[in-house]
Amino acid sequence: MSVKASATANTTFAELFGRAPDVRADAPGRVNLIGEHTDYTGGYVLPVAIPQRTRVELAPRIGPLVRAWSADMPEAELQEYRLGDEKPVHDWLDYVQGITEVLRQEGYTLRGFDLRIESDVPVGGGLSSSAALEVSLLRALREAFGLDLDDVQIALAGQKAENDFVGAPVGVMDQMASSLADEKTALFLDTRSLQYEKIPLPAEAELVVIDSGVSHRHSGGEYRIRREECERAAELLGVRQLRDLDPQDLWRLPSLPEPLDRRTRHVITENARVRSAVASLRERDLPRLGKLLYASHESLRNDFEVSIPEIDHLVELASEEPDVFGARITGGGFGGAIVAVARRGTGRKAGDHIAARYGQDGKKKATVLVPAT
Ligand code: ADP
Ligand code: MG
Repeated sequence: MSVKASATANTTFAELFGRAPDVRADAPGRVNLIGEHTDYTGGYVLPVAIPQRTRVELAPRIGPLVRAWSADMPEAELQEYRLGDEKPVHDWLDYVQGITEVLRQEGYTLRGFDLRIESDVPVGGGLSSSAALEVSLLRALREAFGLDLDDVQIALAGQKAENDFVGAPVGVMDQMASSLADEKTALFLDTRSLQYEKIPLPAEAELVVIDSGVSHRHSGGEYRIRREECERAAELLGVRQLRDLDPQDLWRLPSLPEPLDRRTRHVITENARVRSAVASLRERDLPRLGKLLYASHESLRNDFEVSIPEIDHLVELASEEPDVFGARITGGGFGGAIVAVARRGTGRKAGDHIAARYGQDGKKKATVLVPAT
């Protein structure tokens, strides 16, 4: 069945499926304040939820058929599959199929359902629209079918779906952030033990998030290479994961072949920066936090090599703002967004100014996502 001819982004659940939804759920995107490319090495991360969210509406059906529709996908076509017959089709439906397959494998009983998805998290912008979709869908399924799942189990099921079914070897940060973080605290997460603590953002600070307009859509191969490099470096250094090293171990880097030495230096110093950032938040030391953000950016640009000129430009423009303490690339890289810490009350002005200067050449367009309008 196809609704292509008439469906638009505004098409309602009732128009799609001829009845009202039984359940509504949502989940936020996230911005990572610091701790990038550390989650798949068992390290520390510090994400914050953003106001942009993915919202799903769902109604159970009799029988195994799943019908799903997303307002954000250009084809606007209703997709279908049967529970127990999930097969990758290499588009967004794989995120839905991956979730139902993982839940079934883990012994949960589901029925078919009708699903409408809508989001204002930019897709492929490094702010984790994928985890927002996974977590919002899992929340809706938990409610619709009375599933015994806590918020950490939801995050893990989302990650498993993305790893095993979609085929993206992502760490657990995005799903933990979408499931557990909020906009007023930073989620200080140890990605190995999954222990976490919510660190309040100081009242004097305001986060600014600016999307570069460059999608990271084709970055999967680079992400996989970085992950493999980190695994190889850990093996050569005789540790389980790079997380098991700290700055005292930096003297060992010359024993590694290039570029594993630089990749490892990034991970070791980034984990140390996350801990320092947590201390800075606790002490409300924004200049120190800002320096850590700039240092993280340098490390991701030079040692981990995941930045691009557009993102470097945004960080440079941010550094010229009098009320900005620090800025860095956020997310996996190769496009996406920057995060900056500004003095409270100045974020909008600074963000608009940065975006205007970035767009001066008429070729690029940046969007200020946080603070939201
Ligand atoms: P991001 O950094 O935004 O998480 P990913 O590449 O990890 O980027 O995930 C983006 C993919 O997730 C999209 O290409 C799409 O398949 C899926 N997705 C995210 N949001 C939606 C949505 N609202 N509707 C349908 N699919 C979505
Ligand atoms: Mg993602």
